[in-house]
Formats: sequence, C-alpha cells, structure tokens
Amino acid sequence: SAPLPPAQTVSAKQLADHELHPRFDANYTIGDELGSGGFGFVVAAKRNTDGLPVAVKFIFKNKVPAHGWVRDPKLGVIPMEAFVLKVVDHPGVVKFIDLFDDHKFFYLVMELHGTPWQPPAPEPVAPTKALRPAPMMRRTSRDLFECIEQHSRLTEEQARWVFAQVVETVWHLDRIGICHRDIKDENCVVDADFNVKLIDFGSAVITDVRKPQPYFNRFFGTMTFASPEILQGQPYRAPHAEIWSLGVLLSILLSGQCPFADPAAAIKGQISKPKGAWSSDALNLLLMCLEVDTERRATIAQIRDHPWVHRAWKERAAKLQKQSSSL
Ligand code: ADP
Ligand code: MG
Ligand code: MG
Repeated sequence: SAPLPPAQTVSAKQLADHELHPRFDANYTIGDELGSGGFGFVVAAKRNTDGLPVAVKFIFKNKVPAHGWVRDPKLGVIPMEAFVLKVVDHPGVVKFIDLFDDHKFFYLVMELHGTPWQPPAPEPVAPTKALRPAPMMRRTSRDLFECIEQHSRLTEEQARWVFAQVVETVWHLDRIGICHRDIKDENCVVDADFNVKLIDFGSAVITDVRKPQPYFNRFFGTMTFASPEILQGQPYRAPHAEIWSLGVLLSILLSGQCPFADPAAAIKGQISKPKGAWSSDALNLLLMCLEVDTERRATIAQIRDHPWVHRAWKERAAKLQKQSSSL
C-alpha cells in the first residue's frame, strides 16, 4: 500500500524553516508536540547535557497582549506567564527552567509533567524534506482533559485527589497575590498517579495582597468555566471567579461533564443533574463553589477546609504509609 503522508503538526510546520536560537539549539533536542493554539505551540524536548525531559512553549511575540508583559529584574520585559512560573516555587506549578527569544518567539522552557494519555499516532513515514527529526511529527497530550477523555470520568477518590491538589495550589497562589484566571482541565497536567500541576499562566494576574481586590473588566479565560458575573459582562474580582471555575472543574472530574447546559443556565446557577453517584459531601462542595452570589460563594480557604478535600489528604497519607511499609 502507498505510504501515508507525514502527519503535519503545528510545530513541524512552524519550525521547519525557522532558525532556532543557537544556545537553545545546542542544548535541547525537540520531540513530540504536546499542544498548540493561538499563542503558538508546546513541544516536549530533552536537555542534551543530562537528558532532562522538558516542555518548551513557543510563544509568538506578536500574540502576547499589551497587558501580558512584565518587567523582570534580570530578564527584562517578558511575558507574564514566564514571569509567574519564574517567581512561583510550588509542587503544584510546573517549574521554570529557562527562557530564550528570537525575532519571532519566546521559548519558555519548563518542567515536563504528566503521562502521555493519548496514544501517539502511528509513526509517520520519513518526510521528504527531513529538516527535523521525525519524532516531532507525533502528537501526545498529558493534560487532565485528555486523561478524563481516556477514563470517561474519574472515581470519586481519584477526583478528590486531583481536586485537592488544585485547591492547595490555588490557595498558595492566592496568598502571594496570583490568580490564574483560566483554571480548567486542559491547563492541568497529570501523571499516572493523578499528581497534578498547573500550567498556562497566560491569563494570570498579580495583585497586591495588602489592598482590596480590584475589579476587572476584561476576561481572558474559557466560557465554560466563566462565572455568572463574567458571563453577564459585569466587572469581576479574580479570586471569586476562580472559585466558580473550580466548581466547574469539580463537576467535570466527577461526572465527566460540564454542570451547565448553556451560559444562560450558568448565569442562573441552574446545575444539570450530575451523572454518577455523588456523595453528599461532594455535592455540598460543588454548591459552595457554584454559588451565583459572589458574597456567598466560598473562599479558597473554605474550600481547602472542606471535609471532602481533607479526606483526599488523609487517603493520600494512608496510601504513602502503605507503600513505605510494604518496601
Ligand atoms: P495555551 O495558552 O494555548 O492554552 P498551554 O500553555 O495551555 O497553551 O499549552 C497547551 C497544551 O500543551 C496544554 O493544554 C498541555 O496539554 C500541553 N502542555 C503545556 N505545558 C506543558 C508541560 N509543562 N508539561 C506537559 N504538557 C504541557
Ligand atoms: Mg491552556
Ligand atoms: Mg494560555
């Protein structure tokens, strides 16, 4: 039979004729594509000196919005998402490794996290113009969206562990004045033990924790995860909207589906009957997050203190104990 044409990925197309930054080119070897979007694309790579697996986000310079720039004392004016990764040191956030730039891209080199949930596409035939090694033609995904696709929905214990980690991370970020503003399954990377890290701080905002929460007018997140105040075009406070998105995430973790039929239902807080058997604790937590009234909506501290979330950490501790005693 005739050989299949090579699978074309965004990274393959974009990098075929692109001259990489010489120091990046000397130090890293590019592999599979992990994701792509309007911003650019993300590829897996290896650091040549020690084989360290990394993820590299190629960000089109001309796609970074005006408000998405920050001055870093050492690196100069850089995209917000690179700055946030650089200043945050937490197990729930992928680590910053390096940053390069050329006339077209920023290259954000970061920790590669997660299990490839999507089986890689069949090995493509050698491209006619072999400018880059073949592995870059494949496409794998390590995020929670893909993980849920594979599992259809998680068990309650798995969901609890995933959710508890995200809550812990959001709580930590909140204390230092960082709000992600685009919490969703695609922006969490997850491994086979359901350990989760947050990625994609391109919509994040940094605020002064000593001052009252500012109101924002523009929204850069995802509609399915947007709170009623955002969907109605009202000024919103980022931490309050973040809690709503955590509620949507919780529903997706437990039932594999969005809790609202459409934006009108979200505005009214009309939750669709969740699929699967939910414990009363889980349902109670969901309602605390998906509260239309921002004054009555739970805070991240209240969610972190919820019995259902506590249970995740107890289960985790028991599991680790069992593992260490069986060694
Ligand atoms: P965008 O701003 O377009 O949403 P993301 O930063 O979310 O871009 O990256 C796109 C996709 O690439 C993610 O949904 C995820 O699947 C993958 N990805 C990004 N960073 C990493 C990483 N550090 N480890 C593993 N996969 C990643
Ligand atoms: Mg994203
Ligand atoms: Mg983004």
